[in-house]
Parts: sequence; C-alpha cells; structure tokens
Amino acid sequence: MKKFDLIIMGGGIAGLSSALTAVRSGMHVALVEKEAYLGGIARDCFHTHICGLFKNDDTRPFTIANPGLCSEIFNFMLDLYGNQCLVKMGKVETLAFIQKDLWHYFHQQIRLDNFCLFEKSQWSNMVSGNGKIQKITIATPKKNIDLTAAAFIDATGGANLPDIVAKEGTAPKEDTENSTQLGGYCMELKGEPNKDLSLLVPYTAHKIVKQYNLNEYLRFVTITHNRLSKTHTLKFSVKTAEDMEKCAFIFQKLNQNIKELAKLTLLTSSRKIHLRSSQQGRQIETLGNEETAVKSYWPKETWNIDAGTQYEYCEKDHPFCIPVSALKDTLFENLFLAGKSIRVPDSIQASTRVMGACMATGEQAVIAASNYLKEKA
Ligand SMILES: Cc1cc2nc3c(=O)[nH]c(=O)nc-3n(C[C@H](O)[C@H](O)[C@H](O)COP(=O)(O)OP(=O)(O)OC[C@H]3O[C@@H](n4cnc5c(N)ncnc54)[C@H](O)[C@@H]3O)c2cc1C
Repeated sequence: MKKFDLIIMGGGIAGLSSALTAVRSGMHVALVEKEAYLGGIARDCFHTHICGLFKNDDTRPFTIANPGLCSEIFNFMLDLYGNQCLVKMGKVETLAFIQKDLWHYFHQQIRLDNFCLFEKSQWSNMVSGNGKIQKITIATPKKNIDLTAAAFIDATGGANLPDIVAKEGTAPKEDTENSTQLGGYCMELKGEPNKDLSLLVPYTAHKIVKQYNLNEYLRFVTITHNRLSKTHTLKFSVKTAEDMEKCAFIFQKLNQNIKELAKLTLLTSSRKIHLRSSQQGRQIETLGNEETAVKSYWPKETWNIDAGTQYEYCEKDHPFCIPVSALKDTLFENLFLAGKSIRVPDSIQASTRVMGACMATGEQAVIAASNYLKEKA
C-alpha cells in the first residue's frame, strides 16, 4: 500500500490548487484524476475568463477577493497580459486568460519530488474506521491500487463519497435530471469576426430552438470572446449527454444564419457535458458564523425555464463568507472539501463554484487539513 500525507481526489482547478498548496508546504501528496487530462470542467469547457476572483466593486485595477494563491495567479496573469486581462462583463469583473498559460503555470509550480499523479485513475472504493478514511482504492489503467494518507481532499466536483462508502465499489454517478442548474457543453472557435456576436448568437439560437421544436432549455446559448487568444467560447445549456447532438445541430443552423459566425473555425468541442451544480448530498441550510476561510463576491445564480439564469449581485463589501466548516466533511474527520464539493447552501452554490472561488477553497482545504494534522500530532 502506498502512503502519503495527503491524497487529493479530482484534478480540476480546485484539486490543482490544493495540490500546489500542499506540495509547497512540504507534504507528500497524491493527486488522483479519472481523466487523461488535468483541469476538469475549466479545461474541457475552454474557459477564457476566471470568475469570482475579484470584489466586483468597480475599482481599477480590480481588487482581489482572496489573498494567497488567487492573488499569485492574478499577478502572474497581469504580468503576462497587462491590463488587457481585466475584463468587466456586465456588472462583474473577470480575469481573461489563455488556457495553456494557466495549466502550464500549475505544471511548472508543482514540484515532482513530493508529488505523485495518478491519471486515468478513478477512486472507486474506500475503507473507513474510527470516524476516518483509512484507505482508498483507485482503479488505474493497469490495476487496482490501495492508497492511504493522514488526510484526504475531495475535489471531485460531483462525486458523493458517503455514497461510495454505502455501496462499496460503486462508481459515482452523474445525475443531470435532478440538478438545480443546467449542465453545459462548449465549443471553442478561432477567429476575429467584424461584428460583436454576444447578442446575436443567443437571439438566433432562441429562434432556431423554437423553429425546430427542440427542448426549451436548449435555447440558452451564449458566446464569449477572448481578445488575448482570439477565440470564442460557445456555451450550450444541456441536461443529458444526448443533447450533445442537438448542440451540433443548433451550431450548424447558427452558422447558416449568422455569416460572421460561419467565418470562425471550430477548433474543438467538450468531450462530454458538464454539470454546473454539485451532485453531493452535502449542501447545508445556512452558513455558520465562524471564521471565514473564503469570500465569494460572485452573484447568486438561479435558473428557471422562462427567464434562464437570473443574477442576484452582492452589495459592496458584503460577500458570501465561506466558513472553515464548509470545507470539512461531517462523516470523516480527516476528509476536507474543495471547489464544487464544498458544503454551502444550495442557493449560493453557483456563487462558490466559479474558478476564483474554487482556487481559494482548494488552497484553504489544505490549510484546514494541515491544521488538523498538527492538532493530531
Ligand atoms: C458550462 C460551464 C461554464 C462555466 N463557465 C465558467 C467561466 O466562464 N468562468 C468560471 O470561473 N467558471 C465557470 N464555470 C464554473 C467552473 O468551471 C467550475 O465550477 C469549476 O471549474 C469546478 O472546478 P472543480 O475543480 O471544483 O471541479 P471539476 O472541474 O469538476 O473537477 C473535478 C475533477 O475530479 C475528477 N473526478 C471526478 N470523479 C472522480 C473520481 N471518482 N476519481 C478521480 N477523479 C474524479 C473529474 O474528472 C475532474 O477533473 C462553468 C461551469 C460550466 C459547467
């Protein structure tokens, strides 16, 4: 059995932030990722703007919401791109970036001597005892391997650990039907059109969905332009994997209707659909009043079939304060939570799942884990 100080399950933006923080603190770390690539949703949906990084209080240059890793990544990007990366979208401030630069940064910063990556490896089972996770089993491409650690971080974004304990050996399932938000499927397009497409694309998509009698939720299509990479990300709202075909159909019709869109080159599409909401049964009713670990200034998002996504903005200096307890599991004392996996009320889950907040909770989950280990030592 391989032993580590910390095992992080899930290599999305939150898991990578945890890995970087833990490796720097000298911990012997394992990162387990089921896909052949790191970056999770942020990578497979070709994000070009980090949301939830700033206070959104109309200051320039934008004020960072959380110090530490978020501030470090902000400064790295500001040095690289200059003020061009500071992008206001409606009422919110975001950081534009180029995909390869972000992943390269993590890759460079995570030192290899105390870090072990298990790619294409799915955590599939775990054994608990005395209120702790004792060991986990991961299915690697070659064989099953048992791993153990003093502490664990769940950064899987959607899997449900207690569920795994209950049904030994069951892989986490994806359940889009019961989601409180729509899932997403994205396409990355290259090129600079002569026209702003941000209103034309959603408007035309609306008409296409009506004309061809497609599911109503498919009409919420957006397009985001990134000047740094000269790319556009087309985001479709979906519920099931079958919707991917319908997205391809809508895309074809959009190209037939919008000449400037048809001039762009389709670079790639998501490998699968992605959930916006967390599937964990760990959501809580209200946030506790204790010490704040992470501040989230991103608006509350609620979705309904008539109006699409509605935003409720935070008032100046009134962020959602995520307490340390939101990053701790209630069943296992040595299990900590990061990114989409944290315990927050359902109503603010969308506010805490954006990349900026995921980086901050990824970092803070490691701080909580190392405090726990110090107390136990
Ligand atoms: C369509 C869409 C568009 C979005 N747009 C933006 C945007 O523009 N800007 C922004 O800031 N945010 C955006 N978000 C939100 C943001 O991308 C995600 O919420 C965030 O990236 C989640 O990060 P995470 O690390 O918590 O989870 P994930 O990215 O889901 O990472 C979890 C990782 O765990 C792995 N995993 C899962 N189960 C297992 C297992 N059993 N064993 C091993 N590994 C496992 C997964 O493969 C994945 O790599 C968007 C979300 C969606 C769905």
